[in-house]
Amino acid sequence: MTKSHVPLIERYRDHLPFAPEDQIVSLQEGSTPLLLAPVLSGMVGATVRLKLEGANPTGSFKDRGMTCAVSAAVREGAKAVICASTGNTAASAAAYAARAGITCAVIVPEGKIAQGKMAQTLMHGARVISLAGNFDQALTLVRELTDTHPIVLVNSVNEFRIEGQKTAAFELHEDLHGELEALYIPVGNAGNITAYWRGFREMGASPRMLGFQAEGAAPLVLGHPVEHPETVASAIRIGNPVRWEDAMAATTESRGAIRAVSDAEILAAYRLLASKEGIFCEPASTASVAGLLKYGTDGASQVVCVLTGRGLKDPETAIANNDGKVIQCVAERGPIEEAVLGDP
Ligand SMILES: *Cc1c(COP(=O)(O)O)cnc(C)c1O
Repeated sequence: MTKSHVPLIERYRDHLPFAPEDQIVSLQEGSTPLLLAPVLSGMVGATVRLKLEGANPTGSFKDRGMTCAVSAAVREGAKAVICASTGNTAASAAAYAARAGITCAVIVPEGKIAQGKMAQTLMHGARVISLAGNFDQALTLVRELTDTHPIVLVNSVNEFRIEGQKTAAFELHEDLHGELEALYIPVGNAGNITAYWRGFREMGASPRMLGFQAEGAAPLVLGHPVEHPETVASAIRIGNPVRWEDAMAATTESRGAIRAVSDAEILAAYRLLASKEGIFCEPASTASVAGLLKYGTDGASQVVCVLTGRGLKDPETAIANNDGKVIQCVAERGPIEEAVLGDP
């Protein structure tokens, strides 16, 4: 078997809280591509690589955490998992629960779940509850529920999520032979930046951790929670990150920072990646690239931007944010020639 055919827990079992005899729930997550970005490299004067986390089975890095969280839940005898989610966590939890043969409930803030993710979550058979409230309220409520019922919470407050997600840092450390200098990563609940930093520390590495929040949802930059977070980047529309302290520790210890990028900068990076590098990821993912373009590399020559999730999550945002248009044409030679070859 090549590395990419090994479930994440098997590949890194020595570093994860699972014994060889533990049954694991896997969809062959992890071992994602690390792609050179020639256009971005030229723009910032450094070697820029993209960690394509959208290549995970359900389309985001959440699968790394979910294989561990659901495997642990099954090991404990749980019959149900629950999460609050604006998209990727819901789809991932629903898929792994289906694979494990247990039930899954998902609380989504009303109207705030992307089409592609709703489709996945429903197809996997999860019970979807639309809450008249925002993400932070949804999370507070599921935490209360799991305190009083035998249901396992699989949001990133779950330690197994962080354990699984730290394996992305292992992969980067191996692929770049320990030469990574700076990591650019979107930050919402801050579980992922926490996980990468843990992973790098376990490898004895300490690249600078540079996290990016959207301007309208930047509690870690402002230093206080944001009551009504707003941004086009739904996956990082979080006003009160669960992993606040951990994220601050990661950036301080690594001499990194958490900074803000605007929605316009996020969308510009979104279009650039798709049109120039051939990578279609969701807006939240491109906060990392927007941050790189806005703040530069500060002397680092080997950098990685984490692209956290796939673009097909949210086709509506894509269609609303690009210059391409569909040309109507009759089925005749002359008009089709004009449509294909004429001035756009
Ligand atoms: C969950 C998610 C994030 C934010 O990660 P946190 O661990 O909450 O900081 C960013 N991008 C995508 C695509 C996500 O699904």
